[in-house]
Amino acid sequence: MSEGHGRGGTAVPSGVPRSGMDADGPRAGAPVVIVGAGPVGLMLACELAAAGIATTVLERALEPSAMPKGNGLVGGIVGVLSRRGLLRGQKGLHVIPAPRYSFGGLPLRLNPLRRNALRILPIPQRRLEQLLETRARATGADIRRGHAVTGFTDNGARVAVEVASAAGSYTLDAGFLAGCDGAHSFVRHRLDIAFPGTTGSQLVRIGHLTIPAGAARRTRNAVELAGGTRLALFQANHTAAGSLTVAPVSVLDRGAPNELYIVATQEPLGTQEPAAQISLEEMEASIRRVLGARLPVSGGRWLRSTVANSRLAARYRIGRVFLAGDAAHVFSAGGSSLNTGMLDAVDLASRLAAVLDGSEPLETLEDYHTVRHAAGEQALLQTRAQAALSAPGPEADALRQVLGGAFRSRNPHRYLGALLVGRPHGEGTRGRHGP
Ligand SMILES: Cc1cc2nc3c(=O)[nH]c(=O)nc-3n(C[C@H](O)[C@H](O)[C@H](O)COP(=O)(O)OP(=O)(O)OC[C@H]3O[C@@H](n4cnc5c(N)ncnc54)[C@H](O)[C@@H]3O)c2cc1C
Repeated sequence: MSEGHGRGGTAVPSGVPRSGMDADGPRAGAPVVIVGAGPVGLMLACELAAAGIATTVLERALEPSAMPKGNGLVGGIVGVLSRRGLLRGQKGLHVIPAPRYSFGGLPLRLNPLRRNALRILPIPQRRLEQLLETRARATGADIRRGHAVTGFTDNGARVAVEVASAAGSYTLDAGFLAGCDGAHSFVRHRLDIAFPGTTGSQLVRIGHLTIPAGAARRTRNAVELAGGTRLALFQANHTAAGSLTVAPVSVLDRGAPNELYIVATQEPLGTQEPAAQISLEEMEASIRRVLGARLPVSGGRWLRSTVANSRLAARYRIGRVFLAGDAAHVFSAGGSSLNTGMLDAVDLASRLAAVLDGSEPLETLEDYHTVRHAAGEQALLQTRAQAALSAPGPEADALRQVLGGAFRSRNPHRYLGALLVGRPHGEGTRGRHGP
């Protein structure tokens, strides 16, 4: 069965919505209405536009959030953005084949591999969203800020989308609705889709802090504190009380002062609740507990606390409504959310385009659930493994040490076998009693 809108589909409505609910029924909307102008919603709009499909993107927030989030993209989406020409002419944006990477704190050496598929694009999430929004608007997406989706009804043939804005409420008639509305997804709740998984046991406090040059000497891979403590950059530094991660902001933003760092602590959650804003004093106290010493920091910005969740929506599609991005999955280790979410958008766009131009029947949209739910499961698996590896405590310490040794050895089976035999230094060590 074909949707039969043809390429380009229904005209996108323009102008300010009328006040109050439409008396004369829903207005004609785009073939695809997208909820949320985050990176996933915007990617979906770009991909659909490239296939000639008009979209309306409804975004509740009046302005894009200035809060720093992701620092870069890792994985298959990097190649997609590059092939779409999105990075062309963009100053300072370079795709890097990752010679090394950290898997839950375990150093991966990818450079000896003949084919290393892992690509990295260092880019602040805000800049990524700007790039995508510019492309989406230029190719015809109708992006409406300050328009919140408050309800929808899928009657099997169309979706009526209820929208609230400062100018009033209205109903949009859409062929399909894509919920790219983040981890607390209204669309997911409205469809009553289960979001099973786990809530982390650690409280992460994070923000931008100045560590004055007099208190810390920066080397290539570390920050050496005045008291002699050495903190490796870009990875969790574990202590008995938790962990501390430090990364210079200047790596992403060349104009940022050298003393400005993204600092994150991780401590057992206890009875604390995560908060969208925390004080500099709370952050300082957390650093002191984790390090066992005071670190002179100042000028805290974007300070907040959070708990890592690890969840996957039970369904990515019900009828004509879809979930993508954080609305469908949240992960307990960094680096995979944007890759997985934006690849959801790429997959969904190609399937919707094929149905809308009549080359595939409506039923093939179920493959979106099958394929991307499986991708979400895989991402859940590897991020949970990374979270376990980077957890605090002696067991995770031992796991990192043992697996690290196995990775470095020529033969991991032999290495682990040797540990069980009781040889003092694992593989290759010939003790007095022979192998
Ligand atoms: C501090 C921090 C660091 C991170 N670092 C990384 C990283 O390094 N790498 C990585 O891959 N990921 C990272 N992430 C995760 C990444 O930011 C998210 O995965 C990403 O933002 C998800 O994109 P999204 O488009 O699915 O959802 P969102 O970015 O959450 O966008 C959803 C949008 O939907 C809108 N919306 C919600 N409800 C409605 C409604 N009813 N009507 C209309 N609009 C609505 C919201 O206003 C929002 O703009 C980080 C996150 C944080 C907080």
